[in-house]
Amino acid sequence: MKTNRILIVGGGTAGITVAARLRHADSRLEITLLEPSDRHFYQPLWTLVGAGLADKNDTVRPEAEFIPRGVTWIRAAAVAFDPSAKTVTDSNGSLHSYDQLVVCPGIKLDWDAVPGLRASLGKDGVCSNYSFETVDSTRRAIEEFQGGTAIFTMPNTAVKCGGAPQKILYLAEDAIRRRGLRERSKFLYIAPGASIFGVDHYRPALEKIIAQRGIETLFRHHLTGVNGPRREIEVTHVETGDRRTIAYDLLHVTPPMTAPDVIRQSPLADKNGWVEVEKFTLQHMRYPDVFALGDASNLPTGRTGAAIRKQAPVLVANLLAYRAGSPLSARYNGYTSCPIVTRRGRMMLAEFDYDGRPCETFPFNQAKERFSMWILKKYILPRLYWHGMLRGRA
Ligand SMILES: Cc1cc2nc3c(=O)[nH]c(=O)nc-3n(C[C@H](O)[C@H](O)[C@H](O)COP(=O)(O)OP(=O)(O)OC[C@H]3O[C@@H](n4cnc5c(N)ncnc54)[C@H](O)[C@@H]3O)c2cc1C
Repeated sequence: MKTNRILIVGGGTAGITVAARLRHADSRLEITLLEPSDRHFYQPLWTLVGAGLADKNDTVRPEAEFIPRGVTWIRAAAVAFDPSAKTVTDSNGSLHSYDQLVVCPGIKLDWDAVPGLRASLGKDGVCSNYSFETVDSTRRAIEEFQGGTAIFTMPNTAVKCGGAPQKILYLAEDAIRRRGLRERSKFLYIAPGASIFGVDHYRPALEKIIAQRGIETLFRHHLTGVNGPRREIEVTHVETGDRRTIAYDLLHVTPPMTAPDVIRQSPLADKNGWVEVEKFTLQHMRYPDVFALGDASNLPTGRTGAAIRKQAPVLVANLLAYRAGSPLSARYNGYTSCPIVTRRGRMMLAEFDYDGRPCETFPFNQAKERFSMWILKKYILPRLYWHGMLRGRA
């Protein structure tokens, strides 16, 4: 058995950011990262890729470029956690022991939870921005759309980036309008919630956009079946269970999501399958040498990279304090952000905390669509990600 002082499971947004920050804090730390993928993705740009406004190749880089110097990368997945024994087993069959564990393997896309969805993805007008493999299908579906009914769905589960299902709705509507096809098209947004956005401060502005642009909504419903060859979907009311069939010409699906199986089946999980951490300190509720952040954690806030940017320094400070036997004094306030692209060249930057209180970066009304925020989304945030956040600097 090999002893790793700090073991990080998952080398996505959260894992790399934490590894880099830990190295900066103390270069003597022995850090091992378990990550099976040799590619690292900047997922927020997939929204623009799907709309044909960014290049897919700009969203992927070799994972090796971002492993901080001195961190040992094991190209394998965690397959079992034994927090009582302080060990993790990887997919090569190796057992790793640790002093502290950071858990961040992301969220699982559950394409099979909707009957017919997987078989239709990428054809029959069905597309999704939610994976690198499928994001081009959105661009193609929008290009091939010649009018008719375009439907955009949000699942009845936790999701990463709760705004992304509606961002592509706005961008597709804008693209179709620019092509002169808007008059013969209907845009329908289907979501399980009761309104377009859960945070009061931004909701009226989005409701106004929807009304002005003639976008229809069907709330309290979610997608429960896809019949690609017939170009029909089944949707179900979240409370009554009533089902109905709707015909479509273009269907953008945000798939249902769950915690990764390896977490759900481990002692680290809460009753819903997510890593159970204290929401201010990010320390595990039952295993004090375990910390978690990002999409796999049960932090009750929007799952975004922006949230991780604020979680990572708190986790690192508290993990180091724990090692030193000091009180855990760093606090995460639930900050998350949702850059809502509303059309080509316009964006609204929603930023809020656990209580839905706005935590805005800029000294102007961020509930307004702005060109400057579009520049932030398209050009500044990707650079900040690759060169700042993943290097532990931003
Ligand atoms: C279409 C779309 C639009 C988005 N837009 C935005 C946005 O505008 N702004 C924003 O801030 N966020 C946005 N996000 C969300 C953001 O990308 C995620 O919240 C963020 O990447 C989550 O980071 P993470 O480290 O928790 O998971 P990920 O970055 O997904 O990384 C998880 C890593 O764990 C690895 N892994 C999986 N299983 C195991 C295992 N068993 N053992 C070891 N490693 C494992 C994976 O290979 C992966 O590298 C968007 C996401 C999507 C899909």
